[in-house]
Amino acid sequence: RGRASVELEPHRRPAPRRPPSAAFSWQSCRSRYEFAGYHKRKPAHKPSPYLVAKLRSHEALQMRCGPGTAPYEKALRQLKSGDVAAAADDDDDGCRYVISIGYDRGLGNRIIAIASAFLYAVLTERALLVAPYNGDVAALFCEPFPGTTWLLPDGGRRFPLRRLRDLDGKSKESLGALLKSNAIVSGAAGVNGSTSSSWSSGAPPPYVYLHLDGGADYHDKLFYCDEQQRLLRGVPWLLMKTDSYLVPGLFLVPSLRGELERMFPEKDAVFHHLSRYLLHPANAVWHAITAYHREHLAGAGRLVGIQIRVYHEETPPVSQVVLDQVLSCARREKLLPFPTAGTTTNTSSSDQAVLVTSLSSWYYEKIRDELVGGAVGGGVHQPSHEGLQRMGDTAHDMRALSEMYLLSTCDALLTTGFSTFGYVAQGLAGERPWLMPRRPVWDKEPATEVPEPPCARVASPEPCFHSPSYYDCAARRNYEDIGKAVPYIRRCEDVSWGIQLV
Ligand code: GDP
Repeated sequence: RGRASVELEPHRRPAPRRPPSAAFSWQSCRSRYEFAGYHKRKPAHKPSPYLVAKLRSHEALQMRCGPGTAPYEKALRQLKSGDVAAAADDDDDGCRYVISIGYDRGLGNRIIAIASAFLYAVLTERALLVAPYNGDVAALFCEPFPGTTWLLPDGGRRFPLRRLRDLDGKSKESLGALLKSNAIVSGAAGVNGSTSSSWSSGAPPPYVYLHLDGGADYHDKLFYCDEQQRLLRGVPWLLMKTDSYLVPGLFLVPSLRGELERMFPEKDAVFHHLSRYLLHPANAVWHAITAYHREHLAGAGRLVGIQIRVYHEETPPVSQVVLDQVLSCARREKLLPFPTAGTTTNTSSSDQAVLVTSLSSWYYEKIRDELVGGAVGGGVHQPSHEGLQRMGDTAHDMRALSEMYLLSTCDALLTTGFSTFGYVAQGLAGERPWLMPRRPVWDKEPATEVPEPPCARVASPEPCFHSPSYYDCAARRNYEDIGKAVPYIRRCEDVSWGIQLV
């Protein structure tokens, strides 16, 4: 293997005295070397040799094309002048970019968005840059690629395109708008019904905005067609805005599928590998994670994590129904050691501990009360109770990130359906959680009844993709059942209109 390399499984080696590459040092990003050690009891998912090779060559691409390099400066000039044709001549250095635009979404959404943009970047051989939301990425994560940065310089303030965050479904630069306008001309229909579209100006535009968030429409979602992928290939800059886990959608693009299947023989571990490779909590966050773990969780023989996500319209007041659902799930699935009637267990003889995460402390207190006299010698713990979800508050995001990582160290996980916060925790762990179904976010009426069953162990730890395209581009009509398009993609258990890798 080559020079500067990121180790995927650093726990297999003793703590390095010398950094594995000149670009990384243990001191600069401790989590890169230490996190895997928190999952020793679990069988590790191994990345395929092909995935490892792809990552190594992607690192080289990031270094060759990243900010500060001559190709990057050239691409910026091209963006300013808009002259793609001139730059696409013989001195083409092969540097093209995808920018993941951070915006006002919760941290779980932002994480699955960055992971999606990263995989798209690897697949299409583009350098990934992140335009952070209020400086969050630099405060939360270490640089993932050796010898370069993934941060758009100056937080994007001096980037030729201003106000990236304001791009939305109405922007004329979006793929959807370009398809609706006459910027793209459809060619004649060829064999198997496919057409060959082209840019009406003769050359691709210098940039295209990919509007792939929950509000994307039919035209925006033609992104998931081979035809559009071919058109996008020549565009130097792609600006991607999403709050979703696009990866199952990428598997449905025929021209990307073969490569994806080779990279990920285990389809239920895609987010696991992406997140373990790309996301390493920055030292300040890692310090908080390890200090909390050492003080409260490390001694426990078995650790149960409970993630309770109640949307802010409902807090306060807190929801008795949600609490009943948690307790009913835990009883039914024997996840927690409740005291048995008439007997009290000698708590010091048990080494179970429970980690509760929620915006409110009420659920934690109630669960702790229910477990008094039960075998929870390791205690019941809640690291924070933030009250309300806040946007653009780095300290608040750091606590959220710590809790996702702490949850991922648990031996069993009970998570709330529909929540990307829980998806990140279960994906990092590579563990199938017991998932509690919940009402959609936009359903403002609080639940009045505990669903039956209150929870179920899901088929895969993969996040659910909440806003897939139902259009089968090759067949030129909607899928009869998108959950049957390929054997390893199903409809999600928690979101009936979403799809998930299993
Ligand atoms: P989702 O809305 O459930 O899909 O998850 P997101 O992570 O995208 O957004 C929820 C945000 O609310 C988080 O990023 C946190 O800022 C906050 N939040 C929600 N639940 C918790 C929790 O249990 N602990 C902490 N610390 N923050 C939470």
